[in-house]
Amino acid sequence: LKPQEVDLTSLVRETVRSFTCSEVWEEKTPQLEESLEEIRTITDPEKVKQILFNLLTNALEAISPGGRIIVALRRASGHIIISVGDSGPGIDSQRAGEIFEPFFTTKAKGSGLGLAIVKRLAGVLGGQITVYRKEECTFFELSLPEMEAKE
Ligand code: ADP
Ligand code: MG
Repeated sequence: LKPQEVDLTSLVRETVRSFTCSEVWEEKTPQLEESLEEIRTITDPEKVKQILFNLLTNALEAISPGGRIIVALRRASGHIIISVGDSGPGIDSQRAGEIFEPFFTTKAKGSGLGLAIVKRLAGVLGGQITVYRKEECTFFELSLPEMEAKE
């Protein structure tokens, strides 16, 4: 773990931007909705990036061309929330308990490791990962403890 002062707003914005430059993104041409508060904290930036990368990859794989991807960064009662939503079909409720298991995949060429890594890294960062459905979208929400960062 390499905790340091991190500008989460820039980190999230730049991770999303690197996605929007990719070929897969161009194929799907998602409608991107970004809502980012200004938040600095002490955390491990590489681990946060890896989590975001895995969640964005899944969101992009879940949507049809022209679908929606929603990325938000906000504070909520002593926590920092980073969420990634998509307008894809969502998760079969019978499968919901298994998606964080290593090697669980419903994709022809999936590794089934993305969410297992997300869950493990969230734990290393002292946070949690949850999933819910809201307004026809599937949201993965990473909750991190808020650590005071000096200006
Ligand atoms: P992989 O993407 O290689 O299948 P993951 O661990 O990233 O492995 O995801 C495991 C499974 O969880 C996926 O195969 C899929 O069934 C489900 N899943 C993950 N993210 C989403 C999403 N955004 N929408 C719908 N299903 C999802
Ligand atoms: Mg994946």
